[in-house]
Amino acid sequence: MSEAPRFYITTAIDYPNSRPHIGTAFEKIGADVQARFQRMQGKSVHFQMGNDENTIKVSQRAGELGQDPQAYVNDMAQQFQAVWAALKISNDDFIQTTEERHRIGCQKFIQAVYDAGDIYKKAYSSQYCDGCEEFKTERDIVEGKCPNHPQRTLRVVEEENYFFRLSAFQDRLLALYQSQPDFIQPETRRNEILSLVTTGLQDVSISRKGFDWGIKVPFDPEQTIYVWFDALLNYITAVGYGTDDERFQRIWPADFHVIGKDITRFHCALWPAMLMSAKLPMPKHVLGHGFVYFKGAKASKSAAEKPRDPMDYIAEHGAEPFRYYFMRECPFGGDGNFSEERFIEVYNADLANNLGNLYSRTLTMCLKYFDGTLTGALETDRTAWVAECPNFPQLVQDLGGLVGSFQYNVALQKIWLEVLDASNRYIQATQPFRVIKTDPDACRVALLNVAESMRVLAILIKPFMPATAERFFRAFNWDDVQAWETVSYADALVRPELSEIQVRAQISDGKPAPLFPKIEVEPPATRS
Ligand SMILES: [Zn+2]
Repeated sequence: MSEAPRFYITTAIDYPNSRPHIGTAFEKIGADVQARFQRMQGKSVHFQMGNDENTIKVSQRAGELGQDPQAYVNDMAQQFQAVWAALKISNDDFIQTTEERHRIGCQKFIQAVYDAGDIYKKAYSSQYCDGCEEFKTERDIVEGKCPNHPQRTLRVVEEENYFFRLSAFQDRLLALYQSQPDFIQPETRRNEILSLVTTGLQDVSISRKGFDWGIKVPFDPEQTIYVWFDALLNYITAVGYGTDDERFQRIWPADFHVIGKDITRFHCALWPAMLMSAKLPMPKHVLGHGFVYFKGAKASKSAAEKPRDPMDYIAEHGAEPFRYYFMRECPFGGDGNFSEERFIEVYNADLANNLGNLYSRTLTMCLKYFDGTLTGALETDRTAWVAECPNFPQLVQDLGGLVGSFQYNVALQKIWLEVLDASNRYIQATQPFRVIKTDPDACRVALLNVAESMRVLAILIKPFMPATAERFFRAFNWDDVQAWETVSYADALVRPELSEIQVRAQISDGKPAPLFPKIEVEPPATRS
């Protein structure tokens, strides 16, 4: 038997100097949808996340709190992972860059680059942004400030550091973008990087002197590896580079690095150059996603008006509406907005009313008219339903293409418009609630068809809303391992578990428990 094709996907690792915010959640949800989708395609997925701990900011933050830095980062790693678990992020691993496996891999890597002749030492003086923990060239500075941190003052930092010979990689990087045209996604990010690299690259400082916190340069223990150089290496140290070579060979290279658009240049220029120097294979794609704006201001820890903690929304409405909102409202490659008002609007319209109503209505009819058992699913004529949703096989194929290329908002829009609305139209056309009185068999056929369309819907939304999909499967007593392929009607007709429908939905007050209880909004005016 041949092994399942592998798929390795990573997110950026986060600075644990404060709790995760909505912008960070956006990235993790987007990567999770892809990981879940690829698993449904039968791939052997490895989904990597982690925290970026070897940063001065983290040790400063621990100092402010009077805590030991290691105890602080360990506690933050627990807090981050609790948020990711609550958001149903299905990562397979979570690396803390203070872990031993990371230190060993980093030191091996920097030694390899040093041995290749791509690292040299020189005295250096430049503008430094404490916010980015990054040296800034004239090109990066806007009106004397870092554009990411306009409130901060840039410092001139002078020291003797090790430099990575990034400038020597210009031709090789341009050749990489040529030979792997989809290496950088989306197109706008690719163009930015192409113009950056074409105009020429400067060598980058990769070490700092006199810091205790961080990983030591193996050939000069007075120096600590600069946080950016160290952070990028998590993608290989987490899968065994330096500690488990067999595992590393098996999993690397990554299929996708999913990262924010503000760090694309590190991932698209510095990172491939580092790998070239160490003679390691290139990742296949880097996807720079957009930002989520909170009423116009970038949702980040430093924004003045802070969105509430993601945990507050999850506690109130569950993780799935939150996942749905981001993936439906914010184009993953572009930017999106988050506001509580819009969240409630989308929740009520798409989830409580549209999806939730179809669920409750269908189950209620199955229970009321047929005691929850509908037989003869295999022989059911699907012509009338298919007429409401023509070109169905093509639609499923298109949806696969959209989800696979991170166009989540378009995919969800299509699912709602072309599958969900078609099901509602079909109910209107066949009127099972009316024909039950005159022709119970026509009612049975209609409900079997709606049930089948709900099975299809559940599979299509599963990467986005896994628990909701499972509730659909449980409600109809279906096997919950429904593969993407089985959405085609031809397959559905031969699936033995579909020979009859058995409603097993959770019942409260004699009715199926609502999928998404409507959020009641305060009325704008009181009655006189
Ligand atoms: Zn900055």
